[in-house]
This record gives sequence, C-alpha cells and structure tokens, in this order.
Amino acid sequence: MPLLHLPTITSEKSLNRRAEMRRDAAFIDAAFNASGSRVLFLANLRVPIHPTLDRVPPALRWLSVPEAQALAAPLDYAFLGEDETGAAVFACNVPPYHRDFARVEDALSPLVDLRSLAVQGVSHETDLLIAAEARALLGWHAHNRCCPRCGGPLRLIEGGWCRTCAGCGQSTWPRTDPAVIMLITRGDRALLGHELRFPDKFYSTLAGYIEPGDDIEHAVRREVKEETDVDVGAVRYVASQPWPFPHLLMIGCWGEALTEAITVDRTELSDARWFDRAELATMLAFAHPEGLFVPPRISMAHMLIRAFVDGALPRA
Ligand SMILES: [Zn+2]
Repeated sequence: MPLLHLPTITSEKSLNRRAEMRRDAAFIDAAFNASGSRVLFLANLRVPIHPTLDRVPPALRWLSVPEAQALAAPLDYAFLGEDETGAAVFACNVPPYHRDFARVEDALSPLVDLRSLAVQGVSHETDLLIAAEARALLGWHAHNRCCPRCGGPLRLIEGGWCRTCAGCGQSTWPRTDPAVIMLITRGDRALLGHELRFPDKFYSTLAGYIEPGDDIEHAVRREVKEETDVDVGAVRYVASQPWPFPHLLMIGCWGEALTEAITVDRTELSDARWFDRAELATMLAFAHPEGLFVPPRISMAHMLIRAFVDGALPRA
C-alpha cells in the first residue's frame, strides 16, 4: 500500500489489458478485425494529436484499423487492451527507415514527443496512460529487433507482449527499469538538486536507477550519498508512477536525512541545497524571488514536494 494516495497517474484508470487473452491468437485476430477497434499510430515513437488552439489541452488522434493499414504496411500491431466500452485498442509504430515513413509523418502531423505531451497535460488522463503503454511497449519492439542469444531476427507474438526467435526459440519480454526518486528531508527542510542537464534555476528531487543487488531503501541511501554525501536513515515508500522514457517505473520515496553537510558530486549535479517549506511553496507557485522552480504537476518530484509543503509526509 502506498504511504499516501497522491494524485499521480495510476494504471487503474487505463485500459483493461486482458492479459489472459494475449496467447489466444484467434481472440487477438477477432479483436483486430472488429469494426469498433482503434489504433494509436506512432511515427518513430512520436504520438499523433489533434491540433488545438492555445490553452486547449491536445487530445490523441485515433485511427480505425483499415485507416492504419492503408497508411503503411506491413507493420506489427500490439494489443493494448479494451476500453470501457469493450472495444479493442491497438498500437503500431512506423520506424524512420520504413519506406512509408515520410507519408505517415505527413498524414499524421502534428506528431509530438510523449514527454512534452505529459508535461503539458492531455485532456484525458486515460489517453495519457494509453499513450504511455504504447510508447513503452513499441519502444521495446523498436530496440529489440534481434535475439539476445543468437542474433537471429525476433518476431512479435502474444499480441505484442513477447518476441520470439525462430532460430533458437529464445523468448524475450518487455522490460521495465525501476528507479527511485526521493524527497530527503530534515526537520523543516528538504534536499533538492540541480542536475547538469537541467534548465537554469530548475531544482528537483534526487533520483537514480536501482542497481543489481539493490533494494529500494538501499538504492535511496546509496544515490543520495553518491550525489550529495548526505547520510539517510529511515526510508518509506510513498507512491509509484510509470514513466515510459523509455521504460521506467519511478518509485517515489521519502527519506530522513541524518546529516546536513552537502558535498555535490560534480559529475551529476551542479548544485544541491536545503530548501525550507516556505521557499518550496514559492517554487511550486513560480513565485520564487530568484526565479527558482520545480518539476511540473504530472511528475512524482512535484507530488513529493507538494506533499511535504502540505505537511502530508512524515516529519523527520
Ligand atoms: Zn535466437
């Protein structure tokens, strides 16, 4: 159970994936050929949207199966699940080296990067979750063309949730990489960092990949020690969020700092500081006197900072 019910995007609001039916080729075929089925057609993993006026959140652009097939062939289709009406939802991706790529790009324009779409906020949360599922799954297909054991070509099976090698029989499944993202606090203050790749004046919670042999708590303590030299004691899981860039699961945590002195690891961060609640509140509101700001509302970092400011996280 999460420590808090944060307003994070949750998989519960997405499609019914019908995972139990993926191995039933007749079911997948019937779903693909049903008249109400729809396709999210990605081009080089970018997502088609309906152009909108300023300040109107964009909506995903859907195609029928015949429309998708007319646009480019042959392509693999992944079965994402069924929507609330029971209609099947599929996704496909045309890679940049495909002969029809330019035509698809033309026909589906505007195509946007999912990360930008997530940060802007689409009109429908379910659409965003479907796009995230499609982006993560098709990104895995795009980058796993060959068998990791014998190098032979892999083909898609199980509605797109497995790839198998005709040469040696090896099967591979989509991977998800766990990463920890943590708000470290000490009394009334929280530790945020500025990574080298961040825009100027942008501060966020520390984060890092879970390494082989790590548990969540150890990964939190190890990453914070590496990046800032701060020692962390108690660690609590707060909430998690899929983050398909390319295939992360962000595990949001709170941690209690045991020390205050900061030594920044200059290979990852250009700065790390303690901020008190009042200052964090101004950063959330884009009202900081020096113009410092934090990640957007959709992100786990924002939700952790907001929860701390609101007094919803444990006090160290
Ligand atoms: Zn093989």
